[in-house]
Amino acid sequence: MDFGFTEQERLFAENVRRFARERLAPDYAKWDRGEPFPRERIRELADLGIAGLRVPEAYGGTESSYVMAGIASEELSRGDYNTSLFLQIGMIIADILAGHASESVKRAWLPAIASGDKVVAFGLTEPNAGSDAAAITTSAERDGDSYVVRGEKASITFAGMADACVVFARTGGAGARGIGALMVPLDLPGVSRQVYRSAGERLTQRGSLVFDGVRVPADHLIGGESGGFYQAMGAFDYNRAIIALACVGVAQQSLDETIEYAKQRHTFGRPIAKHEGVAFQIAEHLTMISAARLLAYQCLALRDRGEPHTKEAAMAKWLGPKAAAEAIHACIVLHGWIGYSQELPFEQRLRDVIGLEIGDGTPEIMKAIIARETFGREFAAYR
Ligand SMILES: Cc1cc2nc3c(=O)[nH]c(=O)nc-3n(C[C@H](O)[C@H](O)[C@H](O)COP(=O)(O)OP(=O)(O)OC[C@H]3O[C@@H](n4cnc5c(N)ncnc54)[C@H](O)[C@@H]3O)c2cc1C
Repeated sequence: MDFGFTEQERLFAENVRRFARERLAPDYAKWDRGEPFPRERIRELADLGIAGLRVPEAYGGTESSYVMAGIASEELSRGDYNTSLFLQIGMIIADILAGHASESVKRAWLPAIASGDKVVAFGLTEPNAGSDAAAITTSAERDGDSYVVRGEKASITFAGMADACVVFARTGGAGARGIGALMVPLDLPGVSRQVYRSAGERLTQRGSLVFDGVRVPADHLIGGESGGFYQAMGAFDYNRAIIALACVGVAQQSLDETIEYAKQRHTFGRPIAKHEGVAFQIAEHLTMISAARLLAYQCLALRDRGEPHTKEAAMAKWLGPKAAAEAIHACIVLHGWIGYSQELPFEQRLRDVIGLEIGDGTPEIMKAIIARETFGREFAAYR
């Protein structure tokens, strides 16, 4: 086994870490407190190659490896955890469009995603269907050379700022097989949006999208009328490791800052790092974060080699946010009173990390997948 990065990967990591330190970290709190994330900054992410990581070269992207995307996620999150959502959702959308969309949709959207000019959201969850995604009720009915979309999507990252959304909708019968996906530009008549007052991840303007008889050209159907659900599930797999690495990045940054603090802060005549009660906590969290990092990169390396990785992805998605939330919680307490204030970024980081403990599948659903992959589908409580 090879645990090292190539020279190209190492240089890319350094580049993204510098960007995160200089262009993201100084404004992290601002975007939590209501200032919109500037479009120009999305284009800067694109200039680093981040928006087009999974866009094919023919459409202006770099078509990089999944390990490379993991590196970007980890390093961006050291500066602003939420910016890794541009990478995550951009990748899922690019993979879905490149693999299954009509040529006209690919030409209209893929170059704009790669350049950072357009943001596309991923619309699966509904007010009454989250973990049980196959229970969605949003419909897309064929009418001449259009589909007419009706329904509501809930908890959609970038709902407030997206230019389009890949909307999963019922195009056929019941269950997963009756679900298709459509590219829906959000400036069409009949679309409305509402941004939530979120506990964290406020930069992403998470919210709901309502489709009230929205008429979409028929060539905006992605894949067949019954392919949508399976495209979504295929896309989910690797993104769980990308999420885990975002968690690893923000937790590692928090631990690095806490290590420095523990060397400077004195109690009882010595640096707090000399109290084993402090140093051992750091040792434990560093260990858990390292384990999460290895698991996530193992998953992405498997994906790059075209090998099965569903179980590893679910393991990484369960462990990453949990280990990060626990580490950041400890960093708050180890900073004492000032750790529990908005003077320092830890409380915001904790609120942010909890969002992706739920988003893209809860811990319970991850464990259900690990169990299903271990025992076999015949032992699963549900398919
Ligand atoms: C920050 C954030 C960003 C998101 N971004 C997007 C997005 O961009 N696009 C999108 O489509 N969705 C998005 N989501 C929605 C997300 O995917 C869902 O919230 C998630 O899948 C869980 O669904 P739910 O909230 O409806 O919870 P439910 O499915 O109602 O579950 C409620 C609780 O019951 C537990 N539970 C459910 N079923 C089982 C079971 N079989 N066994 C054990 N426990 C179970 C769950 O673990 C959870 O704790 C986002 C959510 C968050 C928080």
